[in-house]
Amino acid sequence: MSYYDVLIVGAGHAGAQAGIALRQAGFEGSVAMIGDEKEPPYERPPLSKEYFAGDKPFERILIRPVAFWGERNIDMLLNKRVKNVDPIAKFVTVGDEEIGYGKLIWCTGGSPRMLICAGAEAAGVHAVRRRDDVDAMMAKLNQINHVTIIGGGYIGLEAAAVLSKFGKKVVLLEALDRVLARVAGEDLSRFYEAEHRAHGVDLRTNAKMDCIEVIDGKATAVLMADGERIETDMVIVGIGIIPETGPLIAAGAAGGNGVDVDEYCRTSLPDIYAVGDCASHANNFARGAQLRLESVQNANDQAKTAVAHIMGKEEAYNAVPWFWSNQYDLKLQTVGLSIGYDHTILRGDPATRSFSVLYLKGGKVIALDCVNAVKDYVQGRAHVLSGAVLDQAQLADSSVPLKEVGLG
Ligand code: FAD
Repeated sequence: MSYYDVLIVGAGHAGAQAGIALRQAGFEGSVAMIGDEKEPPYERPPLSKEYFAGDKPFERILIRPVAFWGERNIDMLLNKRVKNVDPIAKFVTVGDEEIGYGKLIWCTGGSPRMLICAGAEAAGVHAVRRRDDVDAMMAKLNQINHVTIIGGGYIGLEAAAVLSKFGKKVVLLEALDRVLARVAGEDLSRFYEAEHRAHGVDLRTNAKMDCIEVIDGKATAVLMADGERIETDMVIVGIGIIPETGPLIAAGAAGGNGVDVDEYCRTSLPDIYAVGDCASHANNFARGAQLRLESVQNANDQAKTAVAHIMGKEEAYNAVPWFWSNQYDLKLQTVGLSIGYDHTILRGDPATRSFSVLYLKGGKVIALDCVNAVKDYVQGRAHVLSGAVLDQAQLADSSVPLKEVGLG
């Protein structure tokens, strides 16, 4: 049986950062990373942005050049999937092979949630999670005209922006009464709905689909609950992910929606950490609520926390959440978590296409969504961190820089 002092499972954002952080911290033991994709770690956000748009080749979205991992003495075991974990004898199973570990860092992200209706598995129905998913869509773009996107979250909206720029006829179906309902306030949702419609996207909310029509194995239309038939050449499903935690939960790790971790990213199993999209943790910026974050920030910062702990430093995870989304010429940057807000303040005029939405709870700014408003994003972060109660009239006045807003 081969053995590594630290074994990283999952070669995505969190796995890459764990490997990088170990060597940066001077860890001299043996390290391997097992990933079930064929590529070394690459950035996932461009898959619905620059890479999908053809503006960045794959080589430019690699997290590190291919040679980096060998130079850092990190073994890359790619195209391999961990099926089982034995937390007592401390090994994982990959195919017929058993690989022992001293410490295990579980960084497996999630798999796209797919539709469960008739036609869900037809040719022409795509998810957007991996390079392969996007390459498969890109290979067909020249032959298609009508695209139906299911889900008005960030990935669906970003895909809609790229495809409408390509001149495709895009229908976007959101089951709830507004897009981005899970992550943003109504001001932001309405702004993005209007932007997409202005760019020709047929964006529908409260849209109840029934199933996918399939002819000769291929998706040809989306059939709506009210009987409407939406002709389509391609369906893109962007309805969230299911955390990839099966082997850990089967091994006895505590968890439900993800694997439960403590403030050092330790699971309930000895010497096993979990990091990134798959890790359910109590987040201080959500007032201790147990949640999973699906962001590059969280993947990177949790990886650093786990590695610090392996290196003997107890540095509890307490990083400020941040996120971004690019659609058309709009750069959205978010900081903090808006979960549980009781009040929003609109700062600036959405008609100018540069504004921010501030989320408050008990008078404190807990999060900001900033659209083409980099200064608000940069300066607002301090308010999210301070938890001070600020002057709300000044917060709403975009002529007052956020850093100059006084106490309320
Ligand atoms: P991943 O990066 O998904 O890596 C997990 C890896 O583990 C994958 O390669 C997976 O195949 C592999 N794996 C799973 N199970 C096993 C197993 N049993 N054995 C071996 N390998 C396994 N975040 C932002 O902050 N900003 C954005 O703008 C943004 N845009 C996004 C756009 C798209 C299209 C997508 C898909 C995501 C986007 N995200 C964005 C989210 C961000 O990419 C994720 O939060 C981040 O990738 C999480 O990192 P991770 O390492 O936890 O998971």
